[in-house]
Amino acid sequence: MSRTVYVDGAFVPEDEAKVSVFDRGFLFADAVYEVTAVFGGKLLDFDGHMARLERSLGELDMEMPVDREKMLELHRELVKRNNVQDGCVYLQVTRGAADRDFVFPKGVSQTLVMFTQNKTLTGEKKGIKVISVPDIRWGRRDIKTVQLLAASLNKMEAKKQGKDDTWLVEDGFVTEGSSNNVYIVTKEGKIVTRQLSRSILPGITRAAVLKLAAEQGLEIEERPFTIDEARNAAEAFATSATTFVTPVVEIDGAELSGGVAGPIAKRLNEIYIEEGRKSAI
Ligand code: PMP
Repeated sequence: MSRTVYVDGAFVPEDEAKVSVFDRGFLFADAVYEVTAVFGGKLLDFDGHMARLERSLGELDMEMPVDREKMLELHRELVKRNNVQDGCVYLQVTRGAADRDFVFPKGVSQTLVMFTQNKTLTGEKKGIKVISVPDIRWGRRDIKTVQLLAASLNKMEAKKQGKDDTWLVEDGFVTEGSSNNVYIVTKEGKIVTRQLSRSILPGITRAAVLKLAAEQGLEIEERPFTIDEARNAAEAFATSATTFVTPVVEIDGAELSGGVAGPIAKRLNEIYIEEGRKSAI
């Protein structure tokens, strides 16, 4: 079935949607994106995603193409037109189309593109196997830009080795996963995850899950950790908007939590789903 997508102010069938070859998103990756989960037809953590979008744009000297009210209206309309129950809305804002020049153009209007994807969000999670690779990305990973080639290369490397994902290592410490934030649980039951900085994306799911974990009385330590510490941890997991809390059961060949989802990851995923059902808008 052909989807309806949103491009530059209009809802159109996907095969009629067009963006200029001069669009700076295409030529320079001069663009920012967001992915909001659609859960039971409703938007999950929507305010967080819009707050991060505004921040990402601001860091690149761009503005919101439409205000948050309008964003919500567009998201809801797109979900409705595509009859999405579980899945996501992908949104991309570029600086717009202009003659190719490294200098930012003046007086051009931004490109706003949105589309939906259907995806099962609540299936049973067996756990994923990851390998570590060097983090080759740029220095502003806190901005959610569409420069996703490193993530794509990393996923291909994992696939080549028969694994599911990669954990990225810089200066001896894990930054994040190829498209998720990552955590280990120590033998004492403490959750360890890297603190926010320019080295990682401030995950919206990360913020929600850490809040829920704290409410559960779990101890959280925000600090860098090594692959060695992770391989010897009691359990590990990853979070992102469309994968929620995903157990990690193997890191560089070392099996964790007996090769099955660890109890803390499992519980946090359940709580996140439970809360999500209540808070989605
Ligand atoms: N880190 C990276 C590099 C990502 O690509 C993502 C997902 N877009 C995340 C973390 C998780 O962020 P969120 O929970 O907001 O989806």
